[in-house]
Amino acid sequence: MGCSELVTLAGPARPRIGKELGELSIINDGAMLVRDGRIELVGARSALEPRIGAEYEVVDAGGRVVLPGFVDAHTHPVFAGTRADEYEQRAGGATYQEIASAGGGIRSTVRKTRAASEDDLFAAAQRYSEWFLRTGTTAIEAKSGYGLTLEDELKILRTIRRLNESDPLTFVPTFLGAHEIPDEYQGRPAGYVEALVHEMLPRVAEERLAEYCDVFCEPGIFDLDATRKILSQARSLGFGLRIHADQLSQSGGAQLAAELRAATADHLERADSPAIRALAEAGVQPVLLPGSVYTLGTNRYPAARAMNDAGLAVVLATDFNPGSSPTPSMPMILSLASTQMKMTPAEAITAATINAAYTLRRGSELGSFEPGKRADFAIHDCADYREVAYFFGIEHAQAVFTGGRLAFKR
Ligand SMILES: [Zn+2]
Repeated sequence: MGCSELVTLAGPARPRIGKELGELSIINDGAMLVRDGRIELVGARSALEPRIGAEYEVVDAGGRVVLPGFVDAHTHPVFAGTRADEYEQRAGGATYQEIASAGGGIRSTVRKTRAASEDDLFAAAQRYSEWFLRTGTTAIEAKSGYGLTLEDELKILRTIRRLNESDPLTFVPTFLGAHEIPDEYQGRPAGYVEALVHEMLPRVAEERLAEYCDVFCEPGIFDLDATRKILSQARSLGFGLRIHADQLSQSGGAQLAAELRAATADHLERADSPAIRALAEAGVQPVLLPGSVYTLGTNRYPAARAMNDAGLAVVLATDFNPGSSPTPSMPMILSLASTQMKMTPAEAITAATINAAYTLRRGSELGSFEPGKRADFAIHDCADYREVAYFFGIEHAQAVFTGGRLAFKR
């Protein structure tokens, strides 16, 4: 109790589109009753106060804003080392593609990640897991993709499973073996696609290590035919589908996402209006990643307004990764969404909570304050929800709860 604004995001049981994106269903001086980690009742403090029995522990938000935990629907959190050297090279004028074709980029992280033990990866990722929590995020989609051999991909996915069992943050695992063509298959990408389809995907499915399969669809890496082949196999093995599409070039990735009825098409910096229409007709959700545009130092942000106008249920995520978006901070992403993509603070919050939860088949579990849902919430040290993005570059979360339990406190 004691919330200046309890931002509930209560609404229809589906992703929010059009005007709904800006409707937060705020309760001023709101309160919530939580029992066994689940939300029992949501309402005005005056209505709920008489129902608080001795068995409840009272958490006083101190007149601050309380938001549902952010749901970050696109992250790459398990890797070894950093790429601070490439960050410096880009500052000196080198482009992401130049660095990648010289053997840097994803492949340099792959070499370090292959050399790391599962315990090393677990320790590194636990540090990042706490970073997510302290910015107010309580659930993330977590991709593999820095192993690119069966054993190394399994090592990463097992690390994600272990994190999900031991950390307060919720992890939803995605297999991204199709992140890059590994060194040993350079010049013969078809051989790696065969390994993905016939060896790696069946094993990941058998061990139940991932709920989704993702492909980095880009000419010269995984082209449309290769992407279709991998994702068709993934679908037949029971995985949900996600695609890194139209990031560096307009290559038909969004149309393919529509054709395959993927859950999401991610990035979309270069998606044009026919691509946006195709996504809308197929009901694919766009996951927009302004942190990577910012980090790469370009100014081509995805067309969030046009997507919302076309009826797409827009999602925002960090794309946390060591190369193109080394931030776990959803408040930073909300700031970029408002300043660079002209989304209102309310629209950005919806895109980072309830709409994101629906892309992970967790719309009835996460992303809003409604009875029966998991009590994942953050108390932000602000009096007005708009300040979470407006005052940028500092951490507002004062206390973060997952499943009703204190997971982080400043
Ligand atoms: Zn990504």
